[in-house]
Amino acid sequence: MTMTPVGKTSLWIAANRALETESNEPLYRDPFARELAGQTGFDMISIMKAAKHRYDMNTTGPSPYITIRTKFFDDALLNALNASAIQQVVILAAGMDARAFRLDWPSNLVFFEVDRDEVFVHKEAVLGHLQARPKCDRRIVSADLTEQWTTALVKEGFDQDRPAAFLMEGLLAYLDADSVAHLFSQLNMMAHPGSWLGFDISDADTLASPRLTQYLKQLEMLGSPWIFGINDPKTYLAKHGWRGIVTQPGEPDADYGRWPYPTIPHRITGHHSRFLVTANK
Ligand code: SAM
Repeated sequence: MTMTPVGKTSLWIAANRALETESNEPLYRDPFARELAGQTGFDMISIMKAAKHRYDMNTTGPSPYITIRTKFFDDALLNALNASAIQQVVILAAGMDARAFRLDWPSNLVFFEVDRDEVFVHKEAVLGHLQARPKCDRRIVSADLTEQWTTALVKEGFDQDRPAAFLMEGLLAYLDADSVAHLFSQLNMMAHPGSWLGFDISDADTLASPRLTQYLKQLEMLGSPWIFGINDPKTYLAKHGWRGIVTQPGEPDADYGRWPYPTIPHRITGHHSRFLVTANK
């Protein structure tokens, strides 16, 4: 089954996890990432590096932003579970995310991964070949997140009467505003009070910034343009019934000694702010 361009972006992110894993002092290890990424993932890294994102341009290794994002959400998910009675995790747009296999989860955890079928055809074949064993009760849900996906999730055993931790990493930029609103309304039907949410997003203003022109054009040429951003994630979340905390790479909770650039105050426009967001319901 051929992957759509946006499906293939999951291979690019897996290639970044492979480069991080194979670096001198990795922030995390993902032993499945290289095979999951395949040649396509590494080709995409080269193409996107050549397009010179402001935040990645001077590096030869993994992207500092993508590496920090992975580590930030590894920690945030485990902390959210430790601090609560949550026993369900839902990774929306899971792509090649191998957290079910590489992190140590509570023994009673049910771990759902949602993405399109095309992604799981590749992922399950590679994980099967590697004889990967999940460290929790992992269940996959093939669904399109711009359509009705909640029924499929419940059918796999998701309990909407209990809180859960939801993660949308590297997803929202690829959806239009109506699809994001639809996604949040479906998410809210699934998220019992006490639930936790994590996602990342760029600010909307700078998606039109001349500083990013080359990078954005390249994403468009690959068929996976960034079309959505949020200038004020806290307010956006509040409208949807969530209390959000916004962190930028380079701030104390998202630095890990890896952010090589100045940290720009949240609302200075034209600098391409990237937000790592966690929220509680
Ligand atoms: N979360 C993963 C990670 O960080 O490694 C994957 C991120 S990748 C950049 C984007 C993912 O979003 C792809 O796996 C793609 O299939 C998924 N995606 C995009 N639009 C989707 C949709 N409408 N329904 C389901 N998945 C979607």
